[in-house]
Amino acid sequence: MRRSTREWKARWWGALGLAAVGWTSEVSAQAAAVSTGEGRVAAAVRRDIGVLAHDSLAGRFTGTAGSDRAASYLIGRLGETGVRPGPAGWRQVFGIAPDLVALREVPGADRPASGVNVIGMIPGSDPVLRSEAVVVGAHYDHLGVGLTSSMSLGNRGEIHNGADDNASGSVALIEIARQLAARPARRTVMVVAFSGEELGLLGSSAYVKSPPFPLERTVAMINLDMVGRLRNDRLLAFGSETAVEFPALLDSLRRRFPFDLAYSGDGYGRSDQQSFYLAGKPVLHLFTDLHEDYHRPSDDAEKINVDGLIRVAEFAAELTRAIADRPVPLTFVNKPPPPPPVAGPVATGGYGAYLGSIPDMSVGGPGVRLSGARPESPAARAGLIAGDVLLGIGRHEIGDLQAMTDALRQHRPGDTVVVRYRRGAAVDSVRVVLGRRGG
Ligand SMILES: [Zn+2]
Repeated sequence: MRRSTREWKARWWGALGLAAVGWTSEVSAQAAAVSTGEGRVAAAVRRDIGVLAHDSLAGRFTGTAGSDRAASYLIGRLGETGVRPGPAGWRQVFGIAPDLVALREVPGADRPASGVNVIGMIPGSDPVLRSEAVVVGAHYDHLGVGLTSSMSLGNRGEIHNGADDNASGSVALIEIARQLAARPARRTVMVVAFSGEELGLLGSSAYVKSPPFPLERTVAMINLDMVGRLRNDRLLAFGSETAVEFPALLDSLRRRFPFDLAYSGDGYGRSDQQSFYLAGKPVLHLFTDLHEDYHRPSDDAEKINVDGLIRVAEFAAELTRAIADRPVPLTFVNKPPPPPPVAGPVATGGYGAYLGSIPDMSVGGPGVRLSGARPESPAARAGLIAGDVLLGIGRHEIGDLQAMTDALRQHRPGDTVVVRYRRGAAVDSVRVVLGRRGG
């Protein structure tokens, strides 16, 4: 049953008020348990997960006090490991359109106006290669009280702590940073905790749009999203097709780390690596697979496999080091996006015109929100970008993905059409010469 706005707001702020006392004492109590020697890392990981997935952070919804506390905590912890602030400081603030489709269930007064990425860096040890960087990142935002993207309507109003999604990746990031700061790689490593991921990769999109470290000298991105539920040593790595060298590199790491490692796929996917892939970078997404608590209030700290998380972090640190130490950069492989999951001749490539927009499957209509445009596609040439919401093609209104498919089916390759779209608060239109699917 969905709670009223007033009710969940009271719960949210009440929890934050209590946290001022409870949170601090809990942390110091657990800090006392952190001793030297074996188990020190595990105790720190357990504590960090406990803090980030605590009810007092109210599900770390982008732009809220709870997510600000998570950002401050991460900055503090990264600083302790020896990570330096990014070239423009620890915080990268990005704006959020008030009419973002993903926010449609959030009461107007509570819609976040901005989000914050946490940006740290570990300067490279090589005087020449340090001018290039590898990005290792994880999103720290989650669903708040579940008004967006909860798997169950019945859970709306409940705090979604997101221990696996993605306190796990954020905490792995701290451990990766600790290992790399202790013995820096040859290239610089950018350590980034993204916000706005659950709202449509907003933080990573903002990063590639205004990169704190030049994107043309960024050689790869490693993403950790949901790495806290290692079972039967099963570790997945998506994006192995995005660089020629990745399969061999992953195979060599597999010999050193006894995971049941499976790698596959291109750079498209529903996490932050996609933003970097669309910007032309090799990417890998490490993942310990889905589970029944995904996007539910039951994704809690006590279900995290702490030892598994540490093993994934060690793997990721060595993967990052291997890429950052390579004498020459990786060889990027560009692939077309997968067809949208709709039936019909356009989707299967039979006929119809091609736009090259990549729909964001995580948000509904009205309109079709883009998570990007395929490079060199008609959509890209027309200047359509991630976050744009397509409203019309030619004479056709675009209510949803099916309507868009139907509209494209009405046109031929080579047709010039006016595409109407919304960017932020403004509705605009642009002329697009449609292309041929698959060509
Ligand atoms: Zn996630």
